[in-house]
Amino acid sequence: TARNPGESEFHQAVDEVFESLGPVVARHPEVLDSAIVERICEPERQIIFRVPWTDDKGEVHINRGFRVEFNSALGPYKGGLRFHPSVYLGIVKFLGFEQIFKNALTGMPIGGGKGGSDFDPSGRSDAEIMRFCQSFMTELYRHIGEYTDVPAGDIGVGGREIGYLFGQYKRITNRYESGVLTGKGLSWGGSLVRTEATGYGAVMFAEEMLKTKGLDFDGRDVIVSGSGNVAIYAIERAQSLGAKALTASDSSGYVVDEDGIDLELLKQVKEVERGRISDYAERRGASARYVADGSVWDVPGTVALPCATQNELNGRQAKTLLENGVVAVAEGANMPCTTDAVHMFQESDVLFAPGKAANAGGVATSALEMQQNASRDSWSFEYTQERLQEIMRGIHETCARTAEEYGMPGNYVAGANISGFIKVARAMVAQGII
Ligand code: NDP
Repeated sequence: TARNPGESEFHQAVDEVFESLGPVVARHPEVLDSAIVERICEPERQIIFRVPWTDDKGEVHINRGFRVEFNSALGPYKGGLRFHPSVYLGIVKFLGFEQIFKNALTGMPIGGGKGGSDFDPSGRSDAEIMRFCQSFMTELYRHIGEYTDVPAGDIGVGGREIGYLFGQYKRITNRYESGVLTGKGLSWGGSLVRTEATGYGAVMFAEEMLKTKGLDFDGRDVIVSGSGNVAIYAIERAQSLGAKALTASDSSGYVVDEDGIDLELLKQVKEVERGRISDYAERRGASARYVADGSVWDVPGTVALPCATQNELNGRQAKTLLENGVVAVAEGANMPCTTDAVHMFQESDVLFAPGKAANAGGVATSALEMQQNASRDSWSFEYTQERLQEIMRGIHETCARTAEEYGMPGNYVAGANISGFIKVARAMVAQGII
């Protein structure tokens, strides 16, 4: 805490990982040699830079850009860029730290990193977004590359932003280096299934957890928060399995749709019109009700998928979910459940999947995009989705097996943290004190 003052989200993420590591210390003292814990908490490199840009009225704005290149033991730094006014170093470091272990869990050769800016894209025109992205890349380009650091999207950064960022990288470097960014458009190096991957993957992981108790998604009421990339495709996948996704939300409120979310309308409002969840409620008619205050976690359902942002589900809300009979919670977002909420789920017999396992499908498919770029190939939707399904099953299996091996059966948090940590720590030890 003294070394990284004021970075509360980073402290929370580090505490959560180290809480799980007691049994590792006892069993593998060798991975704790050479100050591995201290080294793993210290990013290899942190870049902070000025991003000046001009709005449509000619006014100049200054934002702050970040890229934290956290750990490259397993491969080039890999992790998204977030554009949101709440972004500061503590958020980028928490996300980068989580990313190290998540990426290790996928089994793909990728290290951990994260970046972004405190830029607020809401209400900005396409031209303003483009100028911001170009200015951001004018500094970032010198730090990234196919073999160095490969950014992707996150909150506020989707296909449009990746396009502007890629265009500027190409222009500055005069290199068509497809593998430098992931989440690209399909005609210029993108991968099928990347858009769907995080949401689909979270539901695939939840399916695997439910199976361990002889349960499935069919006929369940599912409570989803968020209405961005992860939420939309989590809803799509849950509904394809026969569930009814009852809710979606944004930072202004949530909608409850008794007939189940109408996915086509949701995509139209959010992906095409870039509107609000209240617009969905207005257009949907009698089955939908918009709630401007209160919490989406008050709505009864048996599976909960928090897919918006960090710390959006606290202990009190976890208690409500438990009272309403929730059986499984899978984190589509990064660290959406507060520490006390996680503890409450773990103390009950709810199946709880931490984000670094449940939402790893996004980065795993980004690694598949890198594979396609490296071989100048493009795979079919079916093949890529099969690979994603295999990877999510593999992550579930690794977490479940590790939790069992370390005497904590069913504890996916411990399973994810321990297996991710050991893999990275061993690679770091093998590569010497660097
Ligand atoms: P989007 O920008 O597409 O959507 C974010 C959604 O969360 C929006 O509905 C947004 O509402 C809502 N939201 C953001 N901040 C808040 C807040 N403070 N309170 C309430 N709602 C909020 O982002 P993604 O869907 O890509 O990301 C969602 C989460 O998933 C993040 O935690 C991200 O790190 C994680 N994730 C994403 C991956 C990906 O592939 N995209 C991969 C792995 C994890 P509003 O419009 O009002 O801000």
